Amino acid sequence: MTQTPARLLIIGPQGSGKGTQGARIADLLGIPTISTGDVFRANVKDGTELGLKVKALIDAGDLVPDDLTSEIVRDRLAQEDAAEGFLLDGYPRNLGQVGDLDVFLDGRGEPLTAVIELSVPRDESIARLSRRAAEQGRADDNEESIAKRLSIYESETAPILDVYRERGIVDEIDGVGSLDEITERITVALAARGITA
Ligand code: AMP
Repeated sequence: MTQTPARLLIIGPQGSGKGTQGARIADLLGIPTISTGDVFRANVKDGTELGLKVKALIDAGDLVPDDLTSEIVRDRLAQEDAAEGFLLDGYPRNLGQVGDLDVFLDGRGEPLTAVIELSVPRDESIARLSRRAAEQGRADDNEESIAKRLSIYESETAPILDVYRERGIVDEIDGVGSLDEITERITVALAARGITA
C-alpha cells in the first residue's frame, strides 16, 4: 500500500489517555503533537497575555473562544515541522472549530487522514482524572471542572465524530488496557490506512 501522510487527530474524553497516546504515536511517526491544552497551560504558567486571557476559563473547565483557539492552531500548523504531518490533540473540540480547520486544511489541499477515537467508559475517565489530580495537581482537575469538561465533551465534542465518520476517517480504539496495548491498537489501525513510520 502506498504511504498516506499522517495528518491526525486524537479525540476522547478527558481521562481517556489521549495526551499520553497522542505523544507516543507522534513520536513513533516522527511528527509534532499540537495540543491546544498544552499551549494554553504553558501560556498560563509563563503569565503571557494569552495566558492571562484564558486562565479563568480553563480553571472553570470552560472552552476558550473558537476564534482565539483556531488562530493559535493555524499559526502552529503553518510552521515548517508540521509540513509533513502532525497530530492534533484537543482541537477541534466543537463543530465551529471543525469548520475553521476545514477551511485551513482544504486551502492547503491537505485534509485530515485519520481520526483516532479513544473510547473509555465514563467511570474509568473519572477515576483516571482523580488520580491525575492527586499526582499532578492540575488546577482544572477538581470535581466541578471535571464534571463540566465531561459534559462539554458529550454535548459538543462527541458530535464532531459524526462529521468525521461520514468522511470515513474515524478509527474507534478501545482505550482500556495497558499503555503498550493501546498504542499497538492505534498503530495497527493507522497502518491499515497506509499511515506508518
Ligand atoms: P485539555 O488539556 O485538552 O483537556 O484542555 C484543557 C483546557 O484547555 C480545556 O478544558 C479548555 O479550557 C482549554 N482548551 C483546550 N483545547 C481547547 C479547544 N480546542 N477549544 C477551546 N478550549 C480548549
